[in-house]
Amino acid sequence: MPVIVAVPKEVAPGERRVSAVPEVVQKLVKSGVTVRVEQGAGVASNYPDEAFVAAGASVVDRGTLLASAGILLTVLPPPAADLAKLPKGAIVVGFLSPGRNLEAAAAMRDAKLTGFSVELIPRISRAQSMDALSSQATVAGYRAALIGADHSPKFLPMLTTAAGTIRPSKVLILGAGVAGLMAIATARRLGAVVEGYDVRRAAGEQVRSLGAKFLELQINAEGQGGYARELTDAEKAQEAEMVAKAVSEADIVITTANIPGKKAPRLVTKEMVARMRPGSVIVDLAAETGGNCELTQAGKSVRANGVEVVGPLNLASDLAFHASSMYAKNLASFLGLLVGPTGELVASFDDEILKASGLVVAGEVKHEATRVALGAPA
Ligand code: NAD
Repeated sequence: MPVIVAVPKEVAPGERRVSAVPEVVQKLVKSGVTVRVEQGAGVASNYPDEAFVAAGASVVDRGTLLASAGILLTVLPPPAADLAKLPKGAIVVGFLSPGRNLEAAAAMRDAKLTGFSVELIPRISRAQSMDALSSQATVAGYRAALIGADHSPKFLPMLTTAAGTIRPSKVLILGAGVAGLMAIATARRLGAVVEGYDVRRAAGEQVRSLGAKFLELQINAEGQGGYARELTDAEKAQEAEMVAKAVSEADIVITTANIPGKKAPRLVTKEMVARMRPGSVIVDLAAETGGNCELTQAGKSVRANGVEVVGPLNLASDLAFHASSMYAKNLASFLGLLVGPTGELVASFDDEILKASGLVVAGEVKHEATRVALGAPA
């Protein structure tokens, strides 16, 4: 029997994205599944109900959607009370915040659901098209560069005008992963002189290929799975000295440094901010995980010595139209592992990607940190 793929309206405050868009729905319907979309699910991201209907979905109320879902595609998991309304055995796919959103994990466990967390999808070639962390980080990096430009009292490009010559702004990007590289590319397109820094030496080539200078330390902190490892104290001291100088010379600093499962590394101290020129801007993309700058306040913009420190949350939601379309394509690709050739649910979840991303499987919490946080013995 064809599985029912359900697309709810996101209810988390400020969340404007939707987990499926009409173009993707059309492909899903062609692949044999039934698609149901909650009324108004795409309104905040500019995908009207009629477009979903034209793509072959039926638009239903929330109660009907939850009660009939075979696979619930979400951006963020719905509240526990809604998860409890899903049929036993239903599957939830989304940003389930492994180890952090314990309420959702407990609700999925108690309702005997299966939850696949897109954050846990391994970064292997076969899973590249499913990599929602990357697609949403691309959006965040782009937005961060625009926020920096928007808050700066200076032009980014060099200008030669009758009213004089304007020197280009200097933009410094700390952390050159997916978001950082997109911020570099965007700042370059706006005409700034850009420098990038990362503890992974491999990032150097990517930074340079975008026309930016790479700040290099004699460190290579590439850890497991291509992610960075935490630095030693001696390495941190080396890093602080180099970063302090670069920060003091920058007009805009965009920080994106992260270590999976850990608090964000502290790269910019308040002393460094004090040495920046007034009017300079810091955009801290790590605000959600504690901030790369000591002065960052999550979700707020604060001023210190004339420097603006912006700590935006959920930047991907700001560009909801394209963030949703990229995310929907990631999920459609992931669904290829869950749905058979005639639109029915696969019999087992033994694919490597499904195994790695299964946070809860048929009511059993599989993710170790979540299991322990929920009180199971380590
Ligand atoms: P992330 O969000 O975990 O971290 C952002 C960046 O911060 C990383 O580049 C990291 O090296 C850097 N960082 C950590 N500590 C730092 C410090 N003290 N100072 C400066 N920088 C620091 O990273 P991400 O964007 O998710 O990407 C992580 C890795 O995964 C990268 O190597 C990326 O190229 C790789 N990746 C692979 C695939 C794939 O193969 N499918 C897809 C996406 C990303």
